[in-house]
Amino acid sequence: MVTALSHQPAEIDAVIFDYNGVIGLHPTVPMWNRLAELAGWHTDQLGLFQTVFWSAREPYDSGESSDTDFWIAVLGHRPAPELLNQLRAVDTAMWTRTDHRVVALLHQARRADLPMVLLSNAPHPVSEALDESHWRTLMTDALYSARLGMNKPQPDTYRNALAATGVHDPGRVLFVDDRADNCQAAARLGLRTLHYTGSPADIEDHLRIATVAT
Ligand SMILES: [Mg+2]
Repeated sequence: MVTALSHQPAEIDAVIFDYNGVIGLHPTVPMWNRLAELAGWHTDQLGLFQTVFWSAREPYDSGESSDTDFWIAVLGHRPAPELLNQLRAVDTAMWTRTDHRVVALLHQARRADLPMVLLSNAPHPVSEALDESHWRTLMTDALYSARLGMNKPQPDTYRNALAATGVHDPGRVLFVDDRADNCQAAARLGLRTLHYTGSPADIEDHLRIATVAT
């Protein structure tokens, strides 16, 4: 059965996708616990660990901090090389699970020849892992904050992504992100925005792709 969409959104010529929270699934609590334990934190202090983790993340995402700098900030001391490797590997693996429903939409959009660009706040190790993902070849390009030297919502991140779509008019490009502040910054540059809240149907509506139900 083919389900037609009930409305006709304006035409779009390209899409810029955030990764985590859109294509990528948020890490589970057991994943966070594993990383916290590896970092020497008790799991009953997971909330505090996450606060420290995120407070150090911005310069790591933007490429300003190295792996060692980031983990010194989280651990409070310099990790031994073997521990650093483990922390980096476990951290990276946490961000590589995808929502198969969204990946299916990426395939549909690709078949429709819709240019798609990834714009992700991600440190170098995560960027390298995402570039190896099976869905990466569906993208026209993938821009990562660590390589750009700046994070969303810096306006130039969106300008770079728009240039990568090959579309001149930002009003014909949809930006999809699960963070409202990122969407607001994109909207200020004239991009269409979808503040994604976890329902792939919202993306599908915007892409005007028919759903084939089984
Ligand atoms: Mg996100």
